[in-house]
Amino acid sequence: MNARLIVGLEIHVQLATRTKLFCGCKLGFGDPPNSNVCPVCLGLPGALPVLNRAAYEYAVRTAVALNCRMARFTKWDRKGYYYPDLPKNYQISQYDLPLSHDGFIEIPLEDGSSQRIRIRRAHLEEDAGKNLHEGLDHSRVDLNRAGTPLLEIVTEPDLGSPAECRILAQELQKLVQFLGVSEANMQMGHLRFEPNINLHIVDDDGREYRTPIVEVKNLNSFRALERAVAHEEWRQLEEWKRDHEYTLEHRGKQNRGWNDVRNETVFQREKEEAHDYRYFPEPDLVPVELDEAWLERIGATVGELPPAMKRRFMGEYGLSDYDAGVLTAERATAEFFDAAVKLGAAPKRAANLVTQLGLQLAKERGGAVSELGVGPERLAELARLIEDGALSASAGATLFEKMLTDGRAPRVLAQECQLLQRSDAAALEALLEEVLAQQSQAAAEARSGSKKAAKARGFLLGQVMQKTKGQANPKVVSDLLDRKLQG
Ligand code: ZN
Ligand code: MN
Repeated sequence: MNARLIVGLEIHVQLATRTKLFCGCKLGFGDPPNSNVCPVCLGLPGALPVLNRAAYEYAVRTAVALNCRMARFTKWDRKGYYYPDLPKNYQISQYDLPLSHDGFIEIPLEDGSSQRIRIRRAHLEEDAGKNLHEGLDHSRVDLNRAGTPLLEIVTEPDLGSPAECRILAQELQKLVQFLGVSEANMQMGHLRFEPNINLHIVDDDGREYRTPIVEVKNLNSFRALERAVAHEEWRQLEEWKRDHEYTLEHRGKQNRGWNDVRNETVFQREKEEAHDYRYFPEPDLVPVELDEAWLERIGATVGELPPAMKRRFMGEYGLSDYDAGVLTAERATAEFFDAAVKLGAAPKRAANLVTQLGLQLAKERGGAVSELGVGPERLAELARLIEDGALSASAGATLFEKMLTDGRAPRVLAQECQLLQRSDAAALEALLEEVLAQQSQAAAEARSGSKKAAKARGFLLGQVMQKTKGQANPKVVSDLLDRKLQG
């Protein structure tokens, strides 16, 4: 017997617009219940929705990045629901003419290879409100979230393991953050996943079975996604072993929820088919026509994407996989680093400054590296000082911090703070001779080749560094010392 796991994923991404999808209400998190509402998102009779242009452009930007084909004509549909948190009794979504379709994303697998996952479609829709069950004798409804713009991304069933599902979700998070279309904050529920899972089983006699397609609703963490898929893989196989009629044709589709405490999926209901929703065209909104100029304008905001950038940083700049990954996690960081290199910074040096220092400093200040007040030109100058040996790496770190509040040229600043290394061989040689004369015993030991030689050499080096208050270039002193000891 052979069982193959088949998973397609639906992902709802909350877009980071200022206002809601069809009204001017603010998108706030943690505001008092029902404080960001108006007749449109309350669903009051006679209120008319108006499309948020930014939401549409964010959706198109993401779809372009997902290599989707863009619809030049797209319309809106009403999807019938009856829930307290959706007072209109329908959700405005897109049914037969989504704004984009037929794209793909490449995801890196754990063995170092990559896999192409096809994207079936990506469309815009509005979120519902929230039912609050607070242990009272009644539930309450908060409609602040009603009308929040969601981009629904649907993949083809190309995922074959729980880990692949998790990786795809994580890659999408990185992508939308990089594009600046969503904060994709998991704690705030900006990403929600709904895997559609079943098994293709071939038994020992060569008979084929397909288990019912189970959609697990509303997973809001990578861990829950991975574990829910793993649990379904196990559960469906067990069900089928008990009863070979546990198949798609006999049981249809079903929705299940995820119990994070018990680590298992729980039956919710038989799944609706499209006709159950009674989709019909939204008469209150005009269709959107995307012309070439508009699409081109939005496409230009996509730019070079993290995977391509990462490859370039590794290939052209010789960075490690790790460094390139850290630098390309955020667009601001990647572009800042790239600009510094183009201004002449040695890539590895600039990468170290950004990843080991810049990101830490930025984090402490709650912003991006590019907002630290040190431009790429200044970073390139700093990198050059270290590269040329004028600054030690640790003095470079000190100087970087000083540069945050002092806009003068790094060399000037370094001079003033006495951070520059002394590399003038003649002066250092004189100093070294002085030390050798004073410490004749150590000098003899260092020349002896005995067990104590290395220790004595280190001592002599330390003496020179001390005399220069740590400002001598240790490499220069070390080379000089070797020559003296041999000579
Ligand atoms: Zn509103
Ligand atoms: Mn949806």
